Amino acid sequence: MKHLFLTAMAVLALSCNSAQTGASQKITRVDYANTITSADLKQHLYTYAADDMEGRMTGSKGQRKAVDYLRDFYKKEGIPAAQANGDYFQHIPASFFSRMKDSITSENVVAFIKGSEKPDEIIIVSAHLDHVGMDKDGNVFNGADDDGSGTVAVLEMAQAFQKAVKDGNGPKRSILFLHVTGEEIGLFGSRYYTENPIFPLENTVVDLNIDMIGRIDPNKKETPNYIYLIGSDKLSQELHDVSEEVNKNYINLELDYTYNDENDPNRFYYRSDHYNFAKNNIPVIFYFNGVHEDYHKMTDTPDKIEYDLMAKRTQLVFETAWELANREGRIKADADKIKAAK
Ligand SMILES: [Zn+2]
Repeated sequence: MKHLFLTAMAVLALSCNSAQTGASQKITRVDYANTITSADLKQHLYTYAADDMEGRMTGSKGQRKAVDYLRDFYKKEGIPAAQANGDYFQHIPASFFSRMKDSITSENVVAFIKGSEKPDEIIIVSAHLDHVGMDKDGNVFNGADDDGSGTVAVLEMAQAFQKAVKDGNGPKRSILFLHVTGEEIGLFGSRYYTENPIFPLENTVVDLNIDMIGRIDPNKKETPNYIYLIGSDKLSQELHDVSEEVNKNYINLELDYTYNDENDPNRFYYRSDHYNFAKNNIPVIFYFNGVHEDYHKMTDTPDKIEYDLMAKRTQLVFETAWELANREGRIKADADKIKAAK
């Protein structure tokens, strides 16, 4: 008995010792970024873009199943709802969708990590949760890249920030994880949020929006270590400079600004949810892999996603959010650019 007790004490002493060794090594932002793995992203995406989500058409049964998945994730991770009443859903009434031919309601999903020093200043990380549904024969548009990729990237980033919170390394500014609905039918969820913001828009520092980061543009087959960035310098040169610096220091993707050109005929800057923030003079970055042969087709499936590349792109967004949340000063929109935007 005594002998056993001593053995147990020895094991306990050893394990304490090793735990101390672990704690004495400083945990860095890179360690948190590295918790975002291709395996985790893949696991989430195979569920989120599965056939039983029925293509996540706004207001449909499948979309409701999708928002339940997101809410359950945040609950399980212990990441609170962004609304004071504890509801993870920002409910959007049918009247807001009144120009749709069928009367529908829908919801954004809102989770929140409160900043430790500047809780009133809000960093938004966003992606749209909906897709285009099914055809009349019940064939599913899975939308794995569009925008399952952005959706599960937001989940993984939230988990990484929450790990930092648990270690006492939480962000100084607050982070809103914003999953918007109704993108495919006209950017409804992001417009609803900006017209009914949970946190004042004047305290909203930035929107980092992800819409499709899991695939490779056919033009980029030879140089796949890239991501298109759109909007980063349109309202704030400082945001653009921070984004470039973070990439250089931590990630090393090719940041391609082809679609940031005002004269680009695709006009992607105006075509996803970040634009509802930009038009309110909130600086934005839109992260995008470009269109590909499966864009808005039934063949946009999870088996075609490049998970390692997607993890690297997600880490870029995470590191950028980390920097914007923790740096000394709040990034500013430029006066001349704001005027130009109006
Ligand atoms: Zn999309």
